[in-house]
Amino acid sequence: MPVKASVIGAGVVGCSIALELQRRGFEVTVLERLGDAGHGSTSASCGIVRRFYSQPGMVAMAQEAACLWAD
Ligand SMILES: Cc1cc2nc3c(=O)[nH]c(=O)nc-3n(C[C@H](O)[C@H](O)[C@H](O)COP(=O)(O)OP(=O)(O)OC[C@H]3O[C@@H](n4cnc5c(N)ncnc54)[C@H](O)[C@@H]3O)c2cc1C
Repeated sequence: MPVKASVIGAGVVGCSIALELQRRGFEVTVLERLGDAGHGSTSASCGIVRRFYSQPGMVAMAQEAACLWAD
């Protein structure tokens, strides 16, 4: 009989933990107070589009990504 585990929060961290527990044979329940998985700060991080960073490497990568996106 599988061991039961509960994960509170279905953001990227909670879902990753739940997936790994399930792979290891646990019977996992994920509890989420919002409407669905990933509706916390995880969803906000997907929407970010910017070119301003504090490190030159990040600025260059963002600039290149913006050109690829436009193409
Ligand atoms: C605008 C913005 C831009 C970002 N940009 C980036 C980026 O470019 N790169 C990057 O790496 N990171 C970025 N981040 C950070 C990244 O989004 C977070 O570090 C990551 O999503 C956190 O994941 P998490 O699963 O820990 O938290 P969350 O996604 O917040 O998930 C936690 C979940 O737990 C639930 N919860 C909390 N308490 C309870 C409870 N008592 N009962 C039930 N459910 C509960 C919440 O509702 C939520 O859904 C950004 C964040 C924001 C807000």
